[in-house]
Amino acid sequence: MSVLHPAVTVVIPIFNEEAVLPELLARLTAVFDLPGAVKWQVLFVDDGSADRSAEILRGRVADDPRFGLIELSRNFGHQSALRAGLAHAAHADAVVTMDADLQDPPECIPALVEAWQAGAEVVLAVRRSREERGLRRLGFDIFHRVFGSLSDFPIEQNTGTFGLLARPAVEAFNQLPESNRFFPGLRTWVGFKRADVLYDRKERAAGQPGQTMRRLVRYALDGLFSFSYLPLRTVTLVGMCVAGVGFALGVFYVTRRLFGVEVAQTGFTTLVTLVLFLGGVQLIGIGVLGEYLGRIYDEVKRRPGYFIKRKSGLE
Ligand code: UDP
Ligand code: MG
Repeated sequence: MSVLHPAVTVVIPIFNEEAVLPELLARLTAVFDLPGAVKWQVLFVDDGSADRSAEILRGRVADDPRFGLIELSRNFGHQSALRAGLAHAAHADAVVTMDADLQDPPECIPALVEAWQAGAEVVLAVRRSREERGLRRLGFDIFHRVFGSLSDFPIEQNTGTFGLLARPAVEAFNQLPESNRFFPGLRTWVGFKRADVLYDRKERAAGQPGQTMRRLVRYALDGLFSFSYLPLRTVTLVGMCVAGVGFALGVFYVTRRLFGVEVAQTGFTTLVTLVLFLGGVQLIGIGVLGEYLGRIYDEVKRRPGYFIKRKSGLE
């Protein structure tokens, strides 16, 4: 790496962001024009936008050599877009990952770079505050709680995509073969020297979140199932408890019968309740197995995470 002029690439996934792009581009450029020795580059990954995002970005790439664009062949999702960006930030000494919607303020990037230059290899932007409210906010909070207590590799509370990876961490990332990717978890998993930088997370500047509630739930489940075996262990434990109770009851009734105690003739309610309860427990167990099985199936198919339609800029 050139110490005097380190190259920092900012990777930004884009999905239908035409409403925020003008402000994003202006604010990024303002940051890059600040005095300093860093050689800035931006790599946009257009994740199959249906609006004018790609067109706007192509225009910018043609005007400014600091900008590059990869266009994916369709919408592959936030995680795949990030993966594509990291794989193509080939000449960067460090890569900043951030969202396009200005929830992650570009003005914070120099602080991330500073922490990297002070010796950290993975810099996490940690939210001091969050402007989101309502159901989404509640969902995020619950997820962070649950994930924190279940995962073998807890992610730091209040971190998301925003952060910086130094070259060695980027290379580690690019070696990960899995297709169900949960970026914050993997970032803890790869290791390296870490540092935190605090920032205030804003509401999305304009437009609609491309990550629908359904996608966020799926993303959260990916996080849980790829970083924890606890759901499987819980099923085993519940199974053992139920079996234990069953065995004790069996011994109890058989002994009573042997000693000639009358056995009640009724018991329809008990039976129905037990059958339904046990059936339910079994189905939940199968469901948990299915979550892992489906993910295993995804992995063994070994499909590439994305396809690239077109590249422009940053040769
Ligand atoms: N995004 C993407 N593909 C998608 C959905 C979103 O590349 O299918 C991008 C989006 O343009 C933004 C980032 O991923 O830059 C985060 O998306 P969003 O703000 O919708 O998610 P949230 O803030 O709810 O996590
Ligand atoms: Mg957002």
